[in-house]
Amino acid sequence: MAEIKGAVLIAQCLKRQGVEEVFGLVGYPVVEVGHRIQEAGIRFIGTRHEQAACFAAQGAGYLRRRPGVALTVSGPGMTNAITAMGNAQANCWPLLVISGSSDSPLANRGAFQEAPQMEAARPFCKWVAQARRVEEIPRLIEQGLRQAWYGRPGATYLDLPADVIDGVVDEGLIKHPPLLAEPPREGSSLALVDEALRALREAERPLAIVGKGAAWADAAPELIRLLEQTGIPFLPTPMGKGVVPDDHPASVAAARSYALANADTILLAGARFNWIMHFGLEPRYRPDVKVVQIDIAPEELSTNVPAAIGIAGDLKAVLGQMAARLEEEPWRLDPKAPWLKELAGEVEKKKNELQPALESSEVPMGFYRPLSEIQKLLPRETLFIAEGSNTMDISRSVIENYLPRHRLDAGTWGTMGVGCGFALAAAVVHPEKPVVALMGDGAFGFDGMEVEVAVRYKLPIVWIIFANNGIGRGVAGWPEDEPPPVNVYTPGSRYDKVIEAFGGTGYHCDTPEQLAQALQEALDKREPALINVPIAPEANRAPQSHHWLSR
Ligand code: ADP
Repeated sequence: MAEIKGAVLIAQCLKRQGVEEVFGLVGYPVVEVGHRIQEAGIRFIGTRHEQAACFAAQGAGYLRRRPGVALTVSGPGMTNAITAMGNAQANCWPLLVISGSSDSPLANRGAFQEAPQMEAARPFCKWVAQARRVEEIPRLIEQGLRQAWYGRPGATYLDLPADVIDGVVDEGLIKHPPLLAEPPREGSSLALVDEALRALREAERPLAIVGKGAAWADAAPELIRLLEQTGIPFLPTPMGKGVVPDDHPASVAAARSYALANADTILLAGARFNWIMHFGLEPRYRPDVKVVQIDIAPEELSTNVPAAIGIAGDLKAVLGQMAARLEEEPWRLDPKAPWLKELAGEVEKKKNELQPALESSEVPMGFYRPLSEIQKLLPRETLFIAEGSNTMDISRSVIENYLPRHRLDAGTWGTMGVGCGFALAAAVVHPEKPVVALMGDGAFGFDGMEVEVAVRYKLPIVWIIFANNGIGRGVAGWPEDEPPPVNVYTPGSRYDKVIEAFGGTGYHCDTPEQLAQALQEALDKREPALINVPIAPEANRAPQSHHWLSR
């Protein structure tokens, strides 16, 4: 019987499990793994930093709704990926990181790039394992993918010592597990479904909060059906945007604070009461708010706010059950209910408040006018990546999303540095759609070199960099004889020159008209491009009704 090498087997197993692309950075001891992956017919995207590979892989995992895979080298290569593992785990996105590690027979001898990789991965992963023999590879790859994908998704880590990658085994000893099936979707008992519907029916001020768990669960059709059957208004979390289109009449996103503070019953659909949703607590919510919570992770139920009705199950399955019950026994919130009138009034007020900033012709520009130009030009199917502090936060209220899993941002961890990797993922998974990565100058700084990857692989990503020269607010300059303030970047930086260095197209736009023209051209050309947009350093978000809302 012929022998098979570890590196070949790794590639074969990934292929057999339906992996379509691997993001990674090769070097000792995984160069051959990369070659074999490519030979096996899997697309390999080589990034400039492991964290970008790992952000890209988890982005691809979320977009494809099956685990993304990243490949890293040993020691510092692997530790470079840890932030991204933590990000996937915090976001509940499926990611398998495969990393080479130093030769096992050389353990504790000061081997090249020897590091406690298993221990380092463990706090940031759902599952961690090391292959000790070549024949373990198929089982562990299947298990790593399954653990990342099934239940509440997250990050997994498979450690592959150099001697296993380079080792050989008799092919007869290899047992390939079958191709993983889609995760099972568990529904709820009908009694709980009825209780949930009763609570919503009895509410005077019901509200649905739609999170990225709903996007992941592919629950958009069921959710839209339920909202349209009942007339319940909704608001999305940042990455819940697009599950129900932002221009759906049930959206009260513009009246977010008012809606949260006044709802008497909340349907929490694929979102968590963490910092993003202000913990579900006063003063952002009524102290007596009744929560109907649906989550795939039973242990999530009642976090921070005891759930009046807690359903542990798959959102698509449970919402489907609810919609089916409603068909049998229909009811609807009175379209003339004072709650809906109040919300409509508040939405109108908030939209009017933003209007002057959206139309401002000031130069240098603030945040709102360029965002309004971008919003006007983006096709509905755009994959939109937003990262930065002000840039990301303000973009949420101006840029609309219309499809699930079409908006990626700093997420549950508030991680800076995600944007370039996510943009690569979006362009790889959705080659037919526009991909626009709007990033602050600080955010772009983390992984800006990844623009070279877009040029190399001909990925038509359009970066838009809002450059206000600083973290939060920037400065126009500082006295010659003083050190730069801690939160600033070099004023007048030309980020467009970065992509030009690699053969991409750069634009520099000082005015709204220039930005509109550049963006249209870049979208039409479908080539990697970067639009540099100076933003007035003192520009800020619109004043908030409570100071703690801006914290
Ligand atoms: P957001 O940031 O949009 O508020 P979170 O990531 O905080 O979203 O919450 C998403 C929630 O969705 C998590 O608690 C996760 O367990 C849950 N979830 C993930 N997949 C499913 C699913 N298939 N069905 C139900 N809930 C899910």
